[in-house]
Amino acid sequence: MTTDFARTRALFDLPEGVIYLDGNSLGPLPRGVRDRVARTITDEWGQMLITGWNRAGWMDMPARIGDRIARLIGAEAGHVVMGDTLSIKVFQALAAALDMRPDRRVILSDTGNFPSDLYMAEGLCGMLKQGYTLRTVAPEAVEDAIDESVAVLMLTEVDYGTGRRHDMPRLTAKAQEAGALAVWDLAHSAGATDVKVAEGGADFAVGCTYKYLNSGPGGPAFIYVAPRHADRAVPALSGWLGHEAPFAFDLDYRPGAGIERMRVGTPPVLQLAALDAALDVWDGVEIADLRARSLELTDAFIAGVEDACPDLDLATPRDHARRGSQVSFRHPEGYAIMQALIARGVIGDFRAPDILRFGFTPLFIGLDDVARAVAVLAEVMESRAWDRAEYRQRARVT
Ligand SMILES: *Cc1c(COP(=O)(O)O)cnc(C)c1O
Repeated sequence: MTTDFARTRALFDLPEGVIYLDGNSLGPLPRGVRDRVARTITDEWGQMLITGWNRAGWMDMPARIGDRIARLIGAEAGHVVMGDTLSIKVFQALAAALDMRPDRRVILSDTGNFPSDLYMAEGLCGMLKQGYTLRTVAPEAVEDAIDESVAVLMLTEVDYGTGRRHDMPRLTAKAQEAGALAVWDLAHSAGATDVKVAEGGADFAVGCTYKYLNSGPGGPAFIYVAPRHADRAVPALSGWLGHEAPFAFDLDYRPGAGIERMRVGTPPVLQLAALDAALDVWDGVEIADLRARSLELTDAFIAGVEDACPDLDLATPRDHARRGSQVSFRHPEGYAIMQALIARGVIGDFRAPDILRFGFTPLFIGLDDVARAVAVLAEVMESRAWDRAEYRQRARVT
């Protein structure tokens, strides 16, 4: 292993005494972000005013930073662009993919997908009318459900609830053999696993950056379009910054070259500055090392919890090939148990109806944190410390 994870850990600003196992939901603050955002505000926005679009390179940020993400997801340079939120990018990728199979009407997904992806698909079907439908099957049934009626296979590679990982190359190949396109959501893969979109054959891929890529709350999403589609894909959300010549102010829309057409409107410069600084942490990180380390951490957590907490049921696959970078356990009192853990400085989260979710992010979590988290969880279970009214009080965000 050539990656120095002690170095990357020192690049984060984490509160004292906290074991943060929720980097899969909101990544923590990399030290370099504060200064970088402050400089963007003071030196760029404050001093350059509108000239910052050119002088500070604001207008080029979506593609320049897209290239930094491309390395992390195994994409070809020049085929990833930043902007909007993930839900919007799901819509865009799906609309473009459907447009490439005009003779078919079915979007195939699975019941483990994140609801927003399914909602966006339903909304798009409703808007297109013409008989478009979303078909969802159990995650294990996806492969057999791919047939010649399917226009687009739309999957999230790693299940946000259970951490189960789909076999991207295999399902993509199967979809393409049946004449469909494959759209992959990498929300829980980018920065978490050894995802390889180009090698895996994905037609489109999308993902967010505030999870394992640590861009901060509300950080922008990314979209990848395979080079073979880049100059043909219809962007659907035809905003001015995806136009071939935005500053010609033509009255007609003409899509820009390649991935640029997937831009919509004004880029979120402050959030992009935060993301750019957050990505500095990845310099020197080998994705193969990240994956090996992640499996080592999740293996250790599974073994420790199963040994110490017999009442918790593992919801995450044991098979490495089928596991992302999180571990989930089921318990009917999962919400209260998680609140008791958070009160003791071990931060994970809860997903209805009964999932305790723990994200393992090698950039800042080590085996010592795993051992401490297991010990605290064991103490909470053993003493039933979770069994208090205050821990059952549900907050707006779980
Ligand atoms: C986190 C997540 C989202 C969230 O979408 P936003 O538009 O960024 O709020 C969508 N899809 C998946 C699969 C996710 O994991």
